[in-house]
Amino acid sequence: MSEVRLRFAPSPTGYLHVGGARTALFNWLLAKKQHGTFVLRIEDTDVTRSTQESVDAIFEGMKWLGLDWDEGPFFQSDCFPVYKEYIDRLVAEGKAYKCYCTVEELEAKREKALKEGGKPKYDGTCRDLPPQEDDGRPYVIRFRTPKEGVTSWNDLIKGKISFENAELDDLIIQRTDGTPTYNFVVVVDDVTMRMTTVIRGDDHVNNTPRQILIYEALGAPVPVFAHVPMILGADKARLSKRHGATSVMAYRDMGFLPEAMVNYLVRLGWSYGDEEIFSLTDLIEKFSIENVGRSAGVFNPDKLLWLNAHYIKTGDPVRLADLLIPFLKERGVDPAQGGPDLVAVVKTLQERAKTMLELADGALFYYKDELSYDEQGVAKAFNADTPALLTALVEKLAALPALDAAQIEQAFKELMAEKGIKLGQVGPAVRLSLSGSTASPGIYEMIETLGLTETKKRIERAIAVLCR
Ligand code: GLU
Repeated sequence: MSEVRLRFAPSPTGYLHVGGARTALFNWLLAKKQHGTFVLRIEDTDVTRSTQESVDAIFEGMKWLGLDWDEGPFFQSDCFPVYKEYIDRLVAEGKAYKCYCTVEELEAKREKALKEGGKPKYDGTCRDLPPQEDDGRPYVIRFRTPKEGVTSWNDLIKGKISFENAELDDLIIQRTDGTPTYNFVVVVDDVTMRMTTVIRGDDHVNNTPRQILIYEALGAPVPVFAHVPMILGADKARLSKRHGATSVMAYRDMGFLPEAMVNYLVRLGWSYGDEEIFSLTDLIEKFSIENVGRSAGVFNPDKLLWLNAHYIKTGDPVRLADLLIPFLKERGVDPAQGGPDLVAVVKTLQERAKTMLELADGALFYYKDELSYDEQGVAKAFNADTPALLTALVEKLAALPALDAAQIEQAFKELMAEKGIKLGQVGPAVRLSLSGSTASPGIYEMIETLGLTETKKRIERAIAVLCR
């Protein structure tokens, strides 16, 4: 079997959009699954709209998602001489021709056609002109689209799609300034880069018949196409900023993990029985383009959040701790400057945090010197007996041979038995003393994580501040 080659070909005119990321992911997965090659090509022929910032944003987004490429990045702006060669070849072979019609003439023809109820197509004035002397008149180069016949392909997602050639215009492939146009360069690149499969958004379906005719004119094999349905918002309109963030990196900044994003994106259109949780490795094994649905996926932020919570809960605490540092720094905390071990902190919080922001917010109390206390909680949890109970607890903790959760629990049990109280009579006060809040990680875990000295310090301060 010959080598399978796929590509992601973003136009660098903005950030990496979730739709683009999903297209990249599908191409990447299919390349990996079939031991093929995944190419990154930056479609920057539109120099006025392409920016280096967008190129960097694309690289950053791909790297964050873990979508590495085998070849590239290739930039279309580096390939103009190649496109020129191919255009010259088509002209020499009579498959493309110079068109001298001016913009005004074309506009007049367009208006006339519209008035007469026809399609505003190029009328072919220059299609059969005898070769002209180059007298300095500006011209474009048009592709000679066959007037008859049908162009069709078997789309891997949408099934057979056909277009009447008569519906297609004689496409401009070179502008008056000598630069090549979009549909043409895409084909030349896909030919020179030997693409075997093209997976892209279904907003390109109308380009495909034009592109197929160009492949045929170049005598090049036509790749297999798969057009992926758009992503919609909850209101069934095309996903846009109105629906929330559409930039992949905005999700990182909102505390999402790349594995949650990948898992979410792949399920937006693709399914595998009832399964919901897929790692990249699972996906390489299980993904198939045939299981991508024909209908558009609806972006569901709650499901993304659910997946993110799953990946935080089950994530490696060492890695999560590492990812958490920038979020903590944004909140003025640098765990390298002291305080409990961040990995231990993460272990106490990952069960409940849905995003890295929640994880960061939840971790703050561990690193604060002076807590403020939840007033309502204090009113309920503290009474005249509390200082003595807390002091007795600290003594018991200090006497433990090791401060682990099991022994801490044992110390609580002994305290409760000795004083004839229930956990509810001391637990909430401990929780407030250590975290300032009524919602925190488990008390035993918190004590273990803070260590004896810090636990003691916090309890003594709470007694001093709250039991005056
Ligand atoms: N540059 C195009 C886009 O960003 C992709 C073209 C293609 O995949 O053929 O939509």
